[in-house]
Amino acid sequence: MKTTILPPATLGMLGGGQLGRFFVAAAHELGYQVWVLDPDRNSPAAQIAERHFCVAYDDYAALDEFAAGCAAITTEFENVPAATLDYLAKFVPVRPHAAAVAICQHRVSEKSFLRDNGFPHGPFITVNCENDLKTAPASLFPAILKVARFGYDGKGQATVSNVAEALLAFAQFKGEQCVLEQRLPLDYEVSVVLARDEQGKVACFPTGENQHTRGILDVSIVPARTSGCMQSDAEDIAARIAEKLGYIGTMGVEFFVSRGQLLVNEMAPRPHNSGHYTIDACVTDQFEQQVRALCGLPLGEPRAHSASVMVNLLGDLWYDGDTYREPDWAKLHAIPNLKLHLYGKHHARPGRKMGHFTVIGDNAEAVQQAALAARAAIG
Ligand code: ADP
Ligand code: MG
Repeated sequence: MKTTILPPATLGMLGGGQLGRFFVAAAHELGYQVWVLDPDRNSPAAQIAERHFCVAYDDYAALDEFAAGCAAITTEFENVPAATLDYLAKFVPVRPHAAAVAICQHRVSEKSFLRDNGFPHGPFITVNCENDLKTAPASLFPAILKVARFGYDGKGQATVSNVAEALLAFAQFKGEQCVLEQRLPLDYEVSVVLARDEQGKVACFPTGENQHTRGILDVSIVPARTSGCMQSDAEDIAARIAEKLGYIGTMGVEFFVSRGQLLVNEMAPRPHNSGHYTIDACVTDQFEQQVRALCGLPLGEPRAHSASVMVNLLGDLWYDGDTYREPDWAKLHAIPNLKLHLYGKHHARPGRKMGHFTVIGDNAEAVQQAALAARAAIG
């Protein structure tokens, strides 16, 4: 069944962070209205939406009213309960569907999905109890213990060199279900952001190279400084994952490149931080694709018209020692090929994603130099 939703229909967004805010902007650009559901009073997306349902994700009376006013619903927050998506889907199209989101939001089901479908991934075991750690193969160490649910930006992870350290970390995570992954030597990390429509057509954005600091994405470089062959392999794997999930919408697939081998790290059932470069460097950006896929419009052209480097701006920038102050944005505004995006968050905390900038240009090398200079100027 093909459904096309046209403006001025109202679209529903579950989650109200910066990803939702960019979705609202893209939807407005195409003539739609947006309602945002997010329990945060200061939600960045709700600030610019037509309506804010400031309620919990399992407030079913509010969900009834939300569904009644929306022509279709999507999400920007990986941890929206799958039960909420299932419930809303009784009334209105919900994309991506609950089952796909459920797999991506749980590290055990995510890794099992990769294993069972033959997608390349690193060695891991599921940890339900202490005994699973005590009997873990020695070859897994040094390892990373990750809680199965609600981890993001490196939170809920512990680097462990042996079973004793793993047991300690498991106790600190209060015995919650975890995965134990071999800590891989990384040549680098790349990601593919793509959109898939109702008919199964996939549009991949160019593969980006990602640098992380303390588990948080720091910089994305596009085109990735890897072989074209590696990039098309990554795009092929990402597209097959989306197909296998029956995914409709925009998604991100993170990869490790370890000893020259491409391994899937994790999937994000939503637009991805590493896809922010598409706003300024591609014909269609990842948020417009999300709107298009949701509404049954044809996907847009994902081609990059410029080389780009995206740099995240974390809350740390607001602190000069103990002094809290606004960074000197004039230094960034002075750079002509730099696009600054601030998310409207009221308070900067260290590690919190407050905004990003993207430097674009024709020459990848020059863009990288300019981005480094810009970050030095502001930081
Ligand atoms: P998050 O959900 O926080 O993004 P990830 O699993 O992607 O969690 O981990 C964040 C970062 O930590 C990765 O991008 C990578 O830099 C590093 N990392 C995670 N797992 C491994 C691993 N098994 N081996 C080496 N580095 C890892
Ligand atoms: Mg990640």
